[in-house]
Amino acid sequence: MSSHTLQLTPELYEYLHSVSLREPEVLRQLREETARHPRAAMQISPEQGQFMSMLIQILGAKRIVEIGVFTGYSSTIMAMAMPEDGHLDACDVDEDFTSIARRYWKQAGVEEKIELHLAPALDTLEQIKRDGKAGTYDLAFIDADKTNYLHYYRQCLELVRPGGLVLVDNVLWGGDVADPTQADEDTEGIRKLNRHIHQDPLVELSMLPIGDGLTIARKRG
Ligand code: CA
Repeated sequence: MSSHTLQLTPELYEYLHSVSLREPEVLRQLREETARHPRAAMQISPEQGQFMSMLIQILGAKRIVEIGVFTGYSSTIMAMAMPEDGHLDACDVDEDFTSIARRYWKQAGVEEKIELHLAPALDTLEQIKRDGKAGTYDLAFIDADKTNYLHYYRQCLELVRPGGLVLVDNVLWGGDVADPTQADEDTEGIRKLNRHIHQDPLVELSMLPIGDGLTIARKRG
């Protein structure tokens, strides 16, 4: 027993999957296709996807914004967790990655729920605000370029309703955030946001050591 979070050995991680993972076939295929990609590490882990799916169901989320689509694992699983009238605004700048995502949205039968915005996410978020939709989202998921993390967080916090969640991926960044010799701008961008959220009176927070680290910030009423 331990009062700390367990270190997951490969055996224990495999056990966790063997007794808890319920990954739909379409997502298993997407994961395997993405694993062959040189930037495969950008994909969220399947148990993290399943956890986010549960959060969406608990929240009854119907309106989601995602910053950073990559090949679409998280957008697909989040859209699958929403009801038929759910809507997900998916922001990315990469046509190649998102063409894979589009293929899987279709295969999973969720393409009607997802609107892809191929543009810098900060522009899309501004546009959403201009459209009068600030404070209407149930959940935002941030998983894109780390140097803009603080900007994304601030914008997303404006978009979610009181009680809504802002999820931030890669907050432990392979351990680099705790290594003082790492001072590259991605690591610094994540550290800056982690410090900011810790002190942010607008939210309650929990930082989970799942995947590469996931922060859940809940907007106060
Ligand atoms: Ca990520």
